[in-house]
Amino acid sequence: MTGLRMGVVGGSIAGCAMAIAGTRAGAEVTVYERSGGALQDRGLGVVVPPALHTRLVALGYLDASMPTAPVGTHVWLARPRGLRSTREIARQPSPVTPCNWGLLWQSLRANTGGTHHHRGRPVTSVGRTPAGGGLIRTADGEEGYDIVVGADGHRSLTRQSLAPGLEPTAAGYAVWRGTIPMSALTGHRRPLELLREAWVTLGFPGGHGIFYLIPAGAGADPGERLLAYAVYASPPARDGQRDPAPYVREIADEHFPDEWADIVARGAHASLVCHPVTDLHAPRAADPPFLLAGDAAGITRPHTASGAVKALEDALCLEEALRGSTSPQEALLRYEAERTPEGARLVELGRRLGAAQVERAPDWGAMGQNEVDGWFRAALAGTPSYLYEG
Ligand SMILES: Cc1cc2nc3c(=O)[nH]c(=O)nc-3n(C[C@H](O)[C@H](O)[C@H](O)COP(=O)(O)OP(=O)(O)OC[C@H]3O[C@@H](n4cnc5c(N)ncnc54)[C@H](O)[C@@H]3O)c2cc1C
Repeated sequence: MTGLRMGVVGGSIAGCAMAIAGTRAGAEVTVYERSGGALQDRGLGVVVPPALHTRLVALGYLDASMPTAPVGTHVWLARPRGLRSTREIARQPSPVTPCNWGLLWQSLRANTGGTHHHRGRPVTSVGRTPAGGGLIRTADGEEGYDIVVGADGHRSLTRQSLAPGLEPTAAGYAVWRGTIPMSALTGHRRPLELLREAWVTLGFPGGHGIFYLIPAGAGADPGERLLAYAVYASPPARDGQRDPAPYVREIADEHFPDEWADIVARGAHASLVCHPVTDLHAPRAADPPFLLAGDAAGITRPHTASGAVKALEDALCLEEALRGSTSPQEALLRYEAERTPEGARLVELGRRLGAAQVERAPDWGAMGQNEVDGWFRAALAGTPSYLYEG
């Protein structure tokens, strides 16, 4: 294929990764990003499989110099019944590569060389030409493309035009996500040692918290770290809970072992957001000339740690499909055949992990290694997850 033109709606993780894929396969790529601001300021943690990280560096999607904070183990903690101490209930091998969301975006963005970027340019609608091409419309007019990539996130306008009326399904609980400075770990030698080698699940009645170290943001020393967390629980019963930090501290104070409650209480939380947990799966990841990528194609409950992973794998799949096809239609149908079932698999996995760890959370404190291994094997029910391969 020569002279291929690809328009991308959204310039975040999925949008930049798709731009790299298109450019590497020889297309002329234009990205339209609604936000005029710097996306690198998001500063949250995301975890990716080490093999994917290595492959993305080898192919030039990511810079080898992008700081990461790899660990090889997953440790499960809980409070023993009636006590406020910490008990390690299980540990499993789980090699993961935690990244800082902002640094990941920056690295992808820096490798989109040759792409035309329009920042602060919201796409108002997408459409089809009579000849089967795609149209991207903005306040400045419309532009035609052979392929239109919807990388416009969980409220994707591109998805709406392919699957009108498709709405996310609410899980009925929420996640509080943020970062805490390392100074909060001062004097807590054991949690600090643990976090240097492992990512941690801390179970409590009706939910759990995930904790792991990530590289600090742009401008920091590559070895500098932040403590990233995601706490899953039911939303507070009372109305008017505007600031999420006090609620995370309340949960920690009520349910966490003392040392972990102290870490959460001490730190000045940053990048703090609270999301209702939802999921959604587009029935088709592509319908030529349109293609959906990242959260636009589907949202999985965050227990799978796979939204950004999926976006990056979407890009690798598109690059291969473009290289191995003789027309954009053929490439998009190949993409569709591979990515639609993968999205469905992840949504299903996220539901099972959420049911096991939040909706029907176990009596964590009563479990040991064998119980955790058996319970979690049953929750996975044979579905592979890079987090829980061990
Ligand atoms: C608690 C939690 C933990 C997570 N942990 C992990 C993890 O460990 N590993 C992992 O892989 N994933 C994780 N994720 C998921 C991951 O963060 C997201 O899946 C990923 O960032 C989505 O990227 P995206 O580019 O598809 O969407 P977004 O980042 O939402 O980007 C969409 C972009 O499109 C732009 N846009 C939207 N509409 C328009 C328009 N009309 N015109 C132009 N531009 C538009 C937006 O401005 C935005 O920049 C987690 C998510 C949560 C909530």
